[in-house]
Amino acid sequence: MAFSTRRRIVVFGVDGVRTDTLAAARTPRIDAIAAEGFLAAFELNDLAPTVSGPGWSNIATGVWADKHNIDGNVFADHRLADYPDFLTRLRTAWPEIRTYAAADWPPLVGPDSEGPVFATPHRVLRLEAPDDDYDMTGADIALDAARTLGAGDYHAAFVYFGEPDEIAHHEGVTPNYLAAVERADARIGQVLDAIRARPAFPDEEWTFVVVTDHGHIDTGGHGGRDPWEARAWIAACGPLVPRGGVTTEHADVAPSVFAALGLKVDPAWGLEGVPFGHRP
Ligand SMILES: [Zn+2]
Repeated sequence: MAFSTRRRIVVFGVDGVRTDTLAAARTPRIDAIAAEGFLAAFELNDLAPTVSGPGWSNIATGVWADKHNIDGNVFADHRLADYPDFLTRLRTAWPEIRTYAAADWPPLVGPDSEGPVFATPHRVLRLEAPDDDYDMTGADIALDAARTLGAGDYHAAFVYFGEPDEIAHHEGVTPNYLAAVERADARIGQVLDAIRARPAFPDEEWTFVVVTDHGHIDTGGHGGRDPWEARAWIAACGPLVPRGGVTTEHADVAPSVFAALGLKVDPAWGLEGVPFGHRP
């Protein structure tokens, strides 16, 4: 399908959000996306370590670690050139598209740890939280994403908030962790409000995805196979996203991005996922 300037997408990544905390937290903006589309929780499969490096790589590329070769948080010997992130695939297919990525976990968008996962966005915000102050970097990401996607002319974006994961590592599943999830929701809302205020918004067709990479054990931490660390979730809404009843997993995000924007998937890409709603 040809490039259309009407179809646009934002994938919001929120790191390390347990499904029960999502349910307990006041998250009206994620709830609204779920109500308009779906919210699906799932167990990470055996090819998906409960670690951020492989988690976000699975989400970004649509393949598992056996292909992109990222099974930890240092990306030595990665094969992202053969299995690039969805923004890079879009840009390769459509030179006229404009892409954006923002994150406060530097390897996602910068050369740290032999990244980045998102290799070629037109505009990048790479933040490193000073003194682990992910509340501050989260606020900066929301501000930059709202300005960029609200006032700019971007068609596909990845916007990431690391604060919940960081707090859970420090203190476990606590009220402060829940509050960080609520802050992430409010920041997603800040970006959504800016997009909906676009003069062209009524003529555009936006798809929104919110996804977490893994959960946490009660005392904080992940990487094993405890049900609470191995459970993740995706919420999404958009013109082609089914309402409710969706079974999905991380490798479906990239194919769903391509479906939302009308990019035909080449079987040679070896994608493991399918667009939301296409999984039996
Ligand atoms: Zn973590």
